[in-house]
Amino acid sequence: MSFATRDGRGWMPDYLVSIDSGKCIGCGRCFKVCGRHVMILKGINEEGDLVELDSDEDDEIEKKVMVMNDEGACIGCGACARVCPANCQTHAPAVAEGA
Ligand code: SF4
Ligand code: SF4
Repeated sequence: MSFATRDGRGWMPDYLVSIDSGKCIGCGRCFKVCGRHVMILKGINEEGDLVELDSDEDDEIEKKVMVMNDEGACIGCGACARVCPANCQTHAPAVAEGA
């Protein structure tokens, strides 16, 4: 599989594959620049469990972190990597078919 821009120039997508929750500061910058709903902001409670931010457990949230929501929707634009201040994202280039 080859990838191209609108006018046919070669383009190598760089997909978001994971976010290090230990480094993420939950700033939300990556969420704002992504148009594909690949990530979602969640809370970590006192027990270290991930919880929804709109749940009744809001009082117990110790920290907010960005987590993967729909990784298959990523188009590999790299916008999220450019705005992350914590260097906590891992990206991987697209793999050509048969490689
Ligand atoms: S690389 Fe682009 S599409 Fe993929 S998660 Fe980051 S901002 Fe969203
Ligand atoms: S930009 Fe980086 S630090 Fe901020 S929420 Fe996204 S992954 Fe976490």
